[in-house]
Amino acid sequence: MKIVAIGRNYADHIAELKNEVPEEPVIFFKPDTAILRNNEPFYYPEYSQDIHHEVELILRICREGKNIDPKFAGKYYDAIGLGIDFTARDLQAKAKAKGLPWTLAKGFNGSAPVSEFLPLSEFPDLNNINFRLDVNGVTKQQGNSGMMLHKFDTIIAYISRFITLKTGDIIFTGTPAGVGPVQLGDRLEGYVEAKKLLDFEIK
Ligand code: MG
Repeated sequence: MKIVAIGRNYADHIAELKNEVPEEPVIFFKPDTAILRNNEPFYYPEYSQDIHHEVELILRICREGKNIDPKFAGKYYDAIGLGIDFTARDLQAKAKAKGLPWTLAKGFNGSAPVSEFLPLSEFPDLNNINFRLDVNGVTKQQGNSGMMLHKFDTIIAYISRFITLKTGDIIFTGTPAGVGPVQLGDRLEGYVEAKKLLDFEIK
């Protein structure tokens, strides 16, 4: 399986990092070795001093597809969960300054904690899903899927023009404002609506 992620999909987060609003979705990968499941702890690696949390809604792909028409994109994912797109901001800044890829800054071991998935039937309106991240009991990020520049179906259709999606693939759909560094001992708790889906520690 693979993880395909979209960057710069919430205007408030684009503004906080002083990035440009992209005309088309910004796409990157995380390898399957980035995944943490079952609220396993995240072990802070020695090669970064500035790892940031980015809480994101994630989609589970349920059938193979390429060149998917946006009209039918909704048939290609069957569940929504919550993920953290951990980003080594120091490594990413270095890469951005040189115009180089973000691969290591985004794809390192453990950089993709993912929750259990909830079936689409639990969401009456996919364009109105609230989610948030608390760090040590304080809310740091809050988002709503209605604020995405590129909605779920657009993202699926766009990615599939270039990259075939397969059953079990996971799509990270971008983070709202409020990203920030994590420290040893932090407890991260992520919610979709009132349901706590993530609860793990930084070690
Ligand atoms: Mg992200």
